[in-house]
Amino acid sequence: MFIVWGKKLVYRKLGHVADFCPICRKPRAFVLRRIGSAGHLYYVTVSQGELVGYERTCAQCGTAFNAEPTHYATVAPKPLPLPELARQTFPDLEQAWKDRLDLERQLRRDPHALHADDRKALIRSPFLLLSPKVEKRFASTHFDKEVGIAALVALGLMMAGPALVRKVAPDSADLAVLVCMALGVVLVIVQIALAGGRFMRREVLPVLAKCLRPLQPTPGELQAVMAELKTLRHKMATKLTLPELVAQIAGPRGDR
Ligand SMILES: [Zn+2]
Repeated sequence: MFIVWGKKLVYRKLGHVADFCPICRKPRAFVLRRIGSAGHLYYVTVSQGELVGYERTCAQCGTAFNAEPTHYATVAPKPLPLPELARQTFPDLEQAWKDRLDLERQLRRDPHALHADDRKALIRSPFLLLSPKVEKRFASTHFDKEVGIAALVALGLMMAGPALVRKVAPDSADLAVLVCMALGVVLVIVQIALAGGRFMRREVLPVLAKCLRPLQPTPGELQAVMAELKTLRHKMATKLTLPELVAQIAGPRGDR
């Protein structure tokens, strides 16, 4: 018998906190989770595992960041409106993030009036913050809705195809089984290969573009960051294309 065992990450929800989201560029509500590494048997774990760290996930943009639970006064067990959540869990949020909030106000007034170093750092930051999400996604094979549909279509094809051929051309029934199986496998493989692009277009590009939009970055500025990421071997650099990003930042109607 084939026994599947090993270690896997276990995420346990601790509650809700308020904090600053550098992707949304605003204070937001977050879900705080403990990350543990636990032994699994057939992917089933019984413990919360050894502590690896904590993460906070923005309720608005869905981006996860490393977290330090001791920064919070308390952790709220239930979601609350942001002002109330901030009052309970991070009462000095405005003070703790003062420099960044001032920079964001300056950015909203005029993104081109920022100091060159600040501007460069602000353009680079969302790429680096979203990179772990991309690395995690491409570290293993994932199945999305389209792959599931392709698998169902393949199954239907393998069942109905040969039955149909048997009726109209009984001599070719064996060949039909092979052809339908091959078509089914190709269909699923193609959809698995396309799933990565769909993930980037649905879950990374819109979030990245929304974060970059207020900065009004030029294609040259974006190109410089992408070239740097490529040198550092971030998967994001090869999974994103500059024209796609530029178009997404411009928005569907070219509005900013
Ligand atoms: Zn956010």
